[in-house]
Amino acid sequence: MRDHATRRVVIENAYIVPVVGEEIPSGHIVIEGDRITAVGPGGAADAGEAGAVPDRAERIDATGCLATPGLVNTHHHLYQWASQGVTPDGTLFEWLVASYPLWARMDAEVVAGAATAGLAWLARSGCTTTTDHHYIFPKGRGDLFDAEIEAARQVGVRFHPCRGSMDRGQSQGGLPPDDVVERADEILQATEDAIRKYHDPSFGSMLRIAVAPCSPFSVSGELMVRSAELARAHGVRLHTHIAETADEDEHCRDQFGVLPVEYLDQLGWLGPDVWLAHCVHLTDKDVRRFAETGTGIAHCPSSNGRLGAGIARVSELLRAGAPVGLGADGAASSEMTPLAGEIRMAMLMQRARYGPRALTARQALELATLGGARCLGRQAEIGSLEAGKLADIALWRLGGYHAAIDDPVVAFAYGQTPPLARLLVGGRTVVEGGELRTVSDAAAAEAGARAHRRLLSADLRR
Ligand SMILES: [Zn+2]
Repeated sequence: MRDHATRRVVIENAYIVPVVGEEIPSGHIVIEGDRITAVGPGGAADAGEAGAVPDRAERIDATGCLATPGLVNTHHHLYQWASQGVTPDGTLFEWLVASYPLWARMDAEVVAGAATAGLAWLARSGCTTTTDHHYIFPKGRGDLFDAEIEAARQVGVRFHPCRGSMDRGQSQGGLPPDDVVERADEILQATEDAIRKYHDPSFGSMLRIAVAPCSPFSVSGELMVRSAELARAHGVRLHTHIAETADEDEHCRDQFGVLPVEYLDQLGWLGPDVWLAHCVHLTDKDVRRFAETGTGIAHCPSSNGRLGAGIARVSELLRAGAPVGLGADGAASSEMTPLAGEIRMAMLMQRARYGPRALTARQALELATLGGARCLGRQAEIGSLEAGKLADIALWRLGGYHAAIDDPVVAFAYGQTPPLARLLVGGRTVVEGGELRTVSDAAAAEAGARAHRRLLSADLRR
């Protein structure tokens, strides 16, 4: 493989949607090392000094392709690849209660296989940066967090794993059984260790850690407050689930005397360093508070649909000025959801609720790119195609059946996602011609299937 620092790639003849700035019907992108050095109309050779073609560059002829920024996934639970298909028709609480005993059996081998398959699946649908929210750490089952970080390194995507946690089991009024929760002191120590060991805050980082207690119905208020203090002391971001279902509203009213977002606000959990999964059930005041505080929202439309949670107020959040990104959510609450498909799902669900002008294809694409980058605090590095940003780029092939639609963004967003011709992460090819180039598709798929069989097998039972 060519040395990272000297890698040079020139993409030509693409329909470029930079997300920031004007669309370019036929243009070029020049990449040196892990950065974009030029984006413009026509061929790279015609573009003067800034767009000059470097010597020994790899040339990609993107005729018939749409170039977009690589997609950013803002919410996931990779380990759930191993428990897909459980409680296919249940509510969130029914599904969780059925899943906890299964998840309590997982070990590092299950996580490694599930994460490899889940990350490969994300890359195949155009994802270049993903987060993961891992919140169950059964004792004596190996280093689960390290297992998923190694999987991301092999697949080759930018990774923001969240050290998740639960400390409020059934005996404390929580939803999970007591044997899947940890003690607050252990959680905070393990979280701090993970930040010190892995977090890379540098420009172009492939690995950043976030702090992520799971949800109001599985975490104590004390752990929420101490988690926020820890994250802020280390300059890392905060993430949790909130306002996902009507059952959660009822739980928070009963236990805390307030609705979920008001509860978070009281705990100091709204702010520009926080992004929150779901946010389906919001009051008008919640929408205003997200915008005022710059709190990000990870919108997961397929998961919300699968669990019958409701339709998030995304177009109202956008109008108010809150950062919104898209999330595939855990593989077990939206089986095999491809991230690119969430662009269509988000658009259609907003229109079903608010009418046909609620969210355009271009707005939905922006959620999946720059919106996600804002949620992760990386809008200066990724999320748009601009000189100086990282070369995270997806090329979608719009020929064949898709050629009957003139507007390339409509062709991309409205129907089945077109084939992925190339996916670059920091200028490095991760997918080419629809197939992974970093790990093999067959090996990744088998790793996921093996993780599923292992999780269900008797030798992991306690
Ligand atoms: Zn989730």
